[in-house]
Amino acid sequence: MADTEINYDDAIDYWTSTPATIDGVLGGFGHTSLPKTDVKGSLSFYNRVRSKYPEFDQSSNINKRALDVGAGIGRVTKDLLSKICDKIDLLEPVIPFAHQIPVELERANLSNKLGQIYKIPMQDFTPNEGAYWIIWCQWCLGQLKDDHLVTFLIRCKSALQKDGLVFVKENNTSTLNDDFDEVDSSVTRSDASFRDIFIRAGYEILHVELQRGLPSGLLPVRTYALRPIDR
Ligand code: SAH
Repeated sequence: MADTEINYDDAIDYWTSTPATIDGVLGGFGHTSLPKTDVKGSLSFYNRVRSKYPEFDQSSNINKRALDVGAGIGRVTKDLLSKICDKIDLLEPVIPFAHQIPVELERANLSNKLGQIYKIPMQDFTPNEGAYWIIWCQWCLGQLKDDHLVTFLIRCKSALQKDGLVFVKENNTSTLNDDFDEVDSSVTRSDASFRDIFIRAGYEILHVELQRGLPSGLLPVRTYALRPIDR
């Protein structure tokens, strides 16, 4: 299995040596159409989920709190979550990235949206019980071994508010296999592998979409809205 090759220290070393910029967290695609296309796609995905699942849309008028997982320098928080949530906590174990988060948010006049920054890797993190309306995981779940991803997603279930959802937006392989990427010691999973992991963690897929309009040369990117089966 590709995920057995993952080494967590190698991954942190790689990201720590990467510039704390949009280009850094997007693997050199920061100056392409990628960031804009990504955010536009995420917003319309979110809107489709709201209309498909009214309980989610109506569930959190008081405390729309989100957790941005593997947040990098806070790009998803700044461009997406701050537009749809009241407060965002961010999880980012790489210290130079974590330090850049408040800088980016202040520059965008969004400091009021910033909650906690947890400098802890996903595999060691337990989010607070019942805290979140949205848990957003983007371009970071490949850093976890399969079993650790399943247990992380299980912990996320108890961290959701009633009718809250987990969103996963990740690259997929174009085959049925998962591929190890030695650059950042991660795996790229097939759509089938993700579905298997979601089932093991006790989620159903409420909605899934392929991101359109990506620059050429990139892998397919899918967004999944996940609802716990057993709550
Ligand atoms: N989600 C952000 C950043 C993507 S880059 C965005 O879309 O802009 C991948 C991020 O995953 C990096 O910030 C890296 O530091 C983080 N990461 C790597 N290993 C991790 C781990 N074990 N737990 C949490 N985050 C991790």
